[in-house]
Amino acid sequence: MTARIIDGNALAARVRGEIADRAAALSARGVQPCLAVILVGGNPASAVYVRNKVAACEKAGIRSLRFDYPEDVAQDVVMDRLAGLNADPAVHGILVQLPLPPQFDEAAVLEAIKVAKDVDGFHAENVGRLSQNQEAFLPCTPHGVMKMLEAEGVPLAGAEAVVIGRSNIVGKPMAMLLTNSGATVTVCHSRTCDLAFHTRRADILVAAVGKPRFVTGDMIKPGATVIDVGINRLPDGKLCGDVDFDSAKEVAGLITPVPGGVGPMTITMLLENTVISADRAARAAGK
Ligand code: NDP
Repeated sequence: MTARIIDGNALAARVRGEIADRAAALSARGVQPCLAVILVGGNPASAVYVRNKVAACEKAGIRSLRFDYPEDVAQDVVMDRLAGLNADPAVHGILVQLPLPPQFDEAAVLEAIKVAKDVDGFHAENVGRLSQNQEAFLPCTPHGVMKMLEAEGVPLAGAEAVVIGRSNIVGKPMAMLLTNSGATVTVCHSRTCDLAFHTRRADILVAAVGKPRFVTGDMIKPGATVIDVGINRLPDGKLCGDVDFDSAKEVAGLITPVPGGVGPMTITMLLENTVISADRAARAAGK
């Protein structure tokens, strides 16, 4: 069997077209959606992510504000900036690019973002709402994965889903979203005994490990849907996922490539959250 490949670029382009239409309609009502992005330090991967997010905003007709700080900036300086952005009615979304340097209390920074502008969905209140299956800004990467599963018509209710990874930004919210959709979810991590025992039972397998080609074909149930969240840079400069695509595609039924899979959907969901926030602000202002 050779798996069908999920085209994340095509889906992202379609959804971004709809988002651009919504942004244009909001701008016509006098409320141009606006995302503020804060980048601290010179982490090259973070700089690329921020550049891509800002460029995607521009293409969708979303205004972006970018604030860059040196690696050794004091947390108070960033907190002051957040307070200003929280109070600014023209700003609808605020994103602090992670990771932050070690002098920062990451949780405190994330909680300083106004919940209504937390378009990354990392504020503890949004995380709590997600865990209670209430309306919330959903973290962009797992939300993008859910959109892909929905677009591909992958049955979720009653499915066995296995998530490898338990980070706050991918693994845990991914597991919560799948649980809320009726899947039976197993979360695996570095302390899991006999990982392959779990992955081989998965109808839906999500890999968010951060290790190149970690999941091999022999760990996959025939016909499974395999979602590769990983983005790893190889010594030759090329990108690869957490799944060994060549062996996995011979076993899986559906599979995402890297690049061109989950990555484009992550930014798309950020744009969508920003437009949702702007729409709420416009309604609240009677526009
Ligand atoms: P983290 O490093 O925060 O988490 C990795 C997880 O993998 C941890 O829970 C860890 O377990 C688990 N893990 C590590 N080694 C093993 C192992 N040998 N067996 C089983 N589990 C293991 O990474 P993130 O969640 O932030 O990101 C994961 C990947 O996704 C990365 O490649 C990242 O670049 C990518 N990413 C991609 C995005 C996109 O847009 N496509 C967005 C965000 C991230 P433990 O908790 O026990 O340490």
